[in-house]
Amino acid sequence: MEQIRDSEILEDLAECRICPHRCEAKRLDGQTGYCNSGRSYQVSSVGLHFGEEPVLSGADGICNVFFSRCNLSCVFCQNHQISARRNCALEEMLTLDKVVGRIEQELDKGTDLLGFVSPSHFIPQTKAIIRALHEKGRHPRIIYNTNGYDTVDSLKSLENTVDVYLPDFKYMDKALAKEYSGVGDYPQFAGAAIKEMYSQKGSRLWLDEKGKAESGLIIRHLVLPGHVENSLKVLDFIANELSVSVHISLMSQYNPTPKVAGHPKLGRKLQVEEYQQVVDHFYELGFSKGWVQELESSDRYNPDFEKEKPFGDR
Ligand code: SF4
Repeated sequence: MEQIRDSEILEDLAECRICPHRCEAKRLDGQTGYCNSGRSYQVSSVGLHFGEEPVLSGADGICNVFFSRCNLSCVFCQNHQISARRNCALEEMLTLDKVVGRIEQELDKGTDLLGFVSPSHFIPQTKAIIRALHEKGRHPRIIYNTNGYDTVDSLKSLENTVDVYLPDFKYMDKALAKEYSGVGDYPQFAGAAIKEMYSQKGSRLWLDEKGKAESGLIIRHLVLPGHVENSLKVLDFIANELSVSVHISLMSQYNPTPKVAGHPKLGRKLQVEEYQQVVDHFYELGFSKGWVQELESSDRYNPDFEKEKPFGDR
């Protein structure tokens, strides 16, 4: 089989500035930057997933590609098995042919949604995968499932490629962003990134006849224990800078990992009263579109990437 070519599309890795770290690492020459990622297709999991918001899963599920490593260092990360920047045990260095082959196997099971999870440090590879699929006559809808730490330039380059943006919006509190994720400028960059996504997609979420997302923006926010104020400010920002018509997925699924056991705030689950304060604010601001979780669902959200199905049958 002829190898699919990708050298031209990976040019942006020559001096990598694709995410806000702007390391200028020469990833084509073997250097790695803050994310400790190189030129190849570093993937931890490709598989069908049923646990997303209903418009992204449906009965057919979504094929999610989990890149390994990350451009953030969240101490509470629930995907810590695959997101560690150093000594990430659960990753494969795949060729483009190989990763495309694996995606095709999953698409053949009947889904037409393809999600890229934590793609911010692998945007050129993401584009190469999508182009290769198009060349094979495959045109799944593309979901860009990001931690929000993206540059506006990178997002502009995705404008005609991504169908649904699915960003986290973790913090408006700079000190919290620095302490928990290693980047005090997260609010500045994530705010600009989400405004760019909104300028591309607006607030309407387009659905197909099966009720699955065709195009739009869904903002996820995970409420952290002991940090209700941060969550209220995130909602304020969206209401003031974007619109209360945006779809919000308000998540209560926080579950402490062993790394934060004993942490004064992150070492426990979210309390009902904390989540309720955020939900109340959501409605007070005038939001009405999106999803609010059941609080008791947190145990169900701990993936195990050492298993063939990291999310079980979800
Ligand atoms: S993607 Fe990685 S190497 Fe590139 S700028 Fe971001 S952290 Fe640095």
